[in-house]
Amino acid sequence: MMTELSIIIPCYHEEKNIDILYQELNTTLKTIEISYEIIFVDDGSKDKTYEKIERIAQNDDRVSGISFSRNFGHQIALLAGLEKAKGNMIITMDGDMQHPPKVIPQLISKFKEGYDIVNTQRIDDSSISFFKKQTSKWFYKIINRLSDIEVESLGADFRLMSRETVNAFLSIREHDRFTRGLVSWIGYKQGLIEYQAHPRHAGTSSYTTGRMLKLALNGITSMSSKPLRISLFFGLFFFASGILYSLFILYNYFTGSNVQGWTSILITILILGGIQLFILSIIGEYVSKIFNESKARPLYIIKKRTDTD
Ligand code: UDP
Ligand code: MG
Repeated sequence: MMTELSIIIPCYHEEKNIDILYQELNTTLKTIEISYEIIFVDDGSKDKTYEKIERIAQNDDRVSGISFSRNFGHQIALLAGLEKAKGNMIITMDGDMQHPPKVIPQLISKFKEGYDIVNTQRIDDSSISFFKKQTSKWFYKIINRLSDIEVESLGADFRLMSRETVNAFLSIREHDRFTRGLVSWIGYKQGLIEYQAHPRHAGTSSYTTGRMLKLALNGITSMSSKPLRISLFFGLFFFASGILYSLFILYNYFTGSNVQGWTSILITILILGGIQLFILSIIGEYVSKIFNESKARPLYIIKKRTDTD
């Protein structure tokens, strides 16, 4: 039988959330009478996440799970799920109940209005910290200023995609995957719905400030090469200032005024040194991307899976 809907759920240390999520999904999906599959992708959890998935999969053949050999990251887990999905409509959502299953019928009806991709935007409430709200706002400001594509702010990887757009997405083979940006990049007719964000059901967020920063940096450098151009502007600016300053020094030299120099030399060295390091680090960021892509390693390794085919 054909599967109409695939639901993909990346899970990292979600042992306390899987059961309730599965129940809520069932309750919701029963109301819309649709053939579906649920794919849990265990991203190398060290807790009982995969055992939970296995148990559910044993009793319900619409449920399957794969388990990575280690933690490869949320974005790669999403990819593995998308590669496995068979449905005509594919929904990705988090495994911690922050993306309420109740929103699924809305996603589907928006899709039926003729959209190829339905993205979601959370309505912020107190469950999201001030810090996360602010950093996320600034991240989207920066990425939209720097890259040519528009990434919806307050978005998450909670969306519905058609078969065709998933195939297009899967044709992108780059390693550093910023799913939100890539989905926007593939184009098609994209719609948006809003949902009320919920606090995590159990456990703590794996996106620590450090990981968020990494994702943000990755998002920016994989969607835009504009930061590389910063060096051009800095270079031009300091070249011009250098010429002006040299004229000033020459003037001093010829008028015989006392050149003390110490302060100006130090300031110049410090500023130039700082800028050079800054620019080197930007270049390094891109070089490391080239390095990663050129190794052409597989994007993930599956250690266990619930289905045998
Ligand atoms: N996740 C994952 N691999 C990771 C980190 C997170 O698969 O390395 C999953 C996690 O289980 C959850 C989703 O990605 O389903 C979002 O993660 P989290 O809830 O920790 O982030 P937040 O919602 O706080 O942004
Ligand atoms: Mg979460």
